[in-house]
Amino acid sequence: MSLKSCVACKRIFDNKDSCPICGSKTSENWSGFLVIIDPEKSDISKELNIKLPGEYSLKVR
Ligand SMILES: [Zn+2]
Repeated sequence: MSLKSCVACKRIFDNKDSCPICGSKTSENWSGFLVIIDPEKSDISKELNIKLPGEYSLKVR
């Protein structure tokens, strides 16, 4: 199992080559693990422009 992060929306997926949400490519070169439960109430989700709950990376290349 390899987790990949979307280079555009930073969402983390289990072994997908493209992001099912936005269609961008995914990368294994990511760091930082972030769980967003309530994007409306989270400052970091606003900073990262996250609108959906889920698992995200902090940095992705
Ligand atoms: Zn995406």
